Amino acid sequence: MLLRHTPKEITERTALTINPAKTCQPIGAMYAALGIHGCLPHSHGSQGCCAYHRSTLTRHYKEPISAATSSFTEGASVFGGQANMLQAIDNIFTVYDPEVIAIHTTCLSETIGDDLKQIKTKAEKEGKIPAGKTVIGANTPSYVGSHVTGFSSMVKSMAMLAEPTGKKNGKVNVIPGWVEPCDMEELKRLMNLMGVKFIMFPDTSGVLNGPLSGEFNMFPEGGTTIAELKSTGDSIGTLALGEWCSADGARWLDAKKKVPCSVLDMPFGLKATDRFIDALRTIAGVSIPEQVSLERGQLVDMISDMHQYLYHKKVALVGDPDQLISMTEFLVSLDMCPVHIVTGTPGKKFEERIREITRDVPYPVHVKAAGDMFLLHQWIKNEPVDLLIGNTYCKYIARDEDIPYVRWGFPILDRQGHQYFPTVAYKGGLRLLEKILGVLMDRQDRDATEQRFELVM
Ligand code: SF4
Repeated sequence: MLLRHTPKEITERTALTINPAKTCQPIGAMYAALGIHGCLPHSHGSQGCCAYHRSTLTRHYKEPISAATSSFTEGASVFGGQANMLQAIDNIFTVYDPEVIAIHTTCLSETIGDDLKQIKTKAEKEGKIPAGKTVIGANTPSYVGSHVTGFSSMVKSMAMLAEPTGKKNGKVNVIPGWVEPCDMEELKRLMNLMGVKFIMFPDTSGVLNGPLSGEFNMFPEGGTTIAELKSTGDSIGTLALGEWCSADGARWLDAKKKVPCSVLDMPFGLKATDRFIDALRTIAGVSIPEQVSLERGQLVDMISDMHQYLYHKKVALVGDPDQLISMTEFLVSLDMCPVHIVTGTPGKKFEERIREITRDVPYPVHVKAAGDMFLLHQWIKNEPVDLLIGNTYCKYIARDEDIPYVRWGFPILDRQGHQYFPTVAYKGGLRLLEKILGVLMDRQDRDATEQRFELVM
């Protein structure tokens, strides 16, 4: 009973977060930066922040995360970190020779007002950026937004590398949002199946789910190249998957480089995947191959076979807005009842979307943006649920309230598989369904009387 002090009575809180349902902005910026080929993320702040960001990513992806830091001490904290960053850029290119340095700020460097753009210009003037190398930057003050905001800001910085030549390349830009490396792989597999030419950015597949080869390679094969990022300005359009993670970069390309964009939900579950496939078909002018229809049919088959185990089961969810919107829609399409939904990322639009999706759910639905897991726990105490879906931090609530629990989202610190088995698209839908059914049926087995303990379910 680790959370035994969580009271059932809910009191209004305006200036206190307990058990946040988010983490800090630079973690998102660092994850996005790792999706550029040959990139070394750089944290402009103190060593402590960088160590925390790296270790969170390492614990989730089970891969060593390399990142540099401006290593602020008292002097930089008072007088500004320009000298530290200039020295860092020089050292990084000399010692590690990356293709790109992707700099993000921290609370400290934002508070003292360091100007990334000005420092980068100075580095260029002083010849600290070798020819052919790239430095990009994103402002990621963690006292606003969340890791999702940091991811989105770094993605926008990637979009800003676009250099239209005036000649279209016939490709579709796809911004996948914060999904697992294997999810990015799965989206690429589908687009290849459909014959769609694409540029995906960021792309962490082959970077954070690589094999153990026996050789250390600081910059793995994967990642979007700088040439591809420049070419995004010549693409026929952009599909941004997720309003919170991906839309800013896509809208920037649309407004500044005349690359039209569509913002879609992340393709988790049947309906959101249908919309993604249809958008790809329309924009690339291709038809849907038999294999894609087959995979869709398999998901529909499993849904109809297993409907009796899902019908009207109440679910509590916590995670990031883009993922939660599609997951809530998926659960509703299964005739399940998402009743408590919390994200730590701010945005009233989230609450409106969830209310719209759950309008026919036959129970009261609680939803909160900029909420926390303490509130989620209180809601569960007042209105118990049959299933809990969320990141590793949910394990305390699941244990205390004895709820079947599916780990999904970020971070997952205590299980394996999320980097390798996709949950996007139709095949991913099968995986999600398998995980949900697994815990619900295990619970049914555990609680069944001997007379009702079934061999075949
Ligand atoms: S100081 Fe800010 S950037 Fe650094 S770890 Fe804390 S919240 Fe994150």
